[in-house]
Amino acid sequence: MRLRNIPGAREAIGTSEYVIPEENECAGKWREIFGEEKPVHIEIGTGKGRFLTELAAANPEVSYVGIEKYSSVLFRAIQKMEENPLPNVRFIRMEAEHILRYFAEGEVERVYLNFSDPWPKERHAKRRLVSREFLDRYRVLLKAGGHLEFKTDNRDLFEFGVEETEPAKWEILEITRDLHRDAKMNQGNIMTEYEERFSSKGNPICKYIIRPIV
Ligand code: SAM
Repeated sequence: MRLRNIPGAREAIGTSEYVIPEENECAGKWREIFGEEKPVHIEIGTGKGRFLTELAAANPEVSYVGIEKYSSVLFRAIQKMEENPLPNVRFIRMEAEHILRYFAEGEVERVYLNFSDPWPKERHAKRRLVSREFLDRYRVLLKAGGHLEFKTDNRDLFEFGVEETEPAKWEILEITRDLHRDAKMNQGNIMTEYEERFSSKGNPICKYIIRPIV
């Protein structure tokens, strides 16, 4: 998702109370930032923030951090937040490969990846957010007992993600290749913008829940 350059987006992000400035050393300080001892859940590639904000409104006992690399997209998420403020949401505009600069070891209890960019060329496999390179990073920031949830309609990306779990030493806890017809896994499902768009075209949605093997 890349919206056209929106005038003022960078400035709005720079001044929003919901955005942690990129240069901030926030690793290890998330509980301080939110001012409360709550579990921290993150979404990487949050887009316009619909999933994260619905989740945060339904779960005030959890602190949520949305990570998005494009200012023009994050700007939409911030606008939503300013219209309907939620105390348990923050955003960072950043490229996910730098994630360990922003979260300390064991600081996060859940990672969400929704409709991540597929990077179809083999030589770009390391950029896929479900690659073993990324799983190694998530292993560090996840607290013991924490897990990762991934949804996509892109079957090739999903099967790649499934195959990466074993070499990266993660275990699959739950899996479906048709989420909306899986009564158990679909319970309480919050649709993302892309999920709504692609499922309305008839594409089945795949989902897995995985955790590192210790
Ligand atoms: N998660 C949303 C949804 O399901 O509707 C948006 C999906 S969109 C296809 C993927 C989003 O992830 C885009 O907004 C993109 O800019 C962001 N993204 C992709 N790779 C990223 C990365 N390496 N770091 C941060 N954001 C990334």
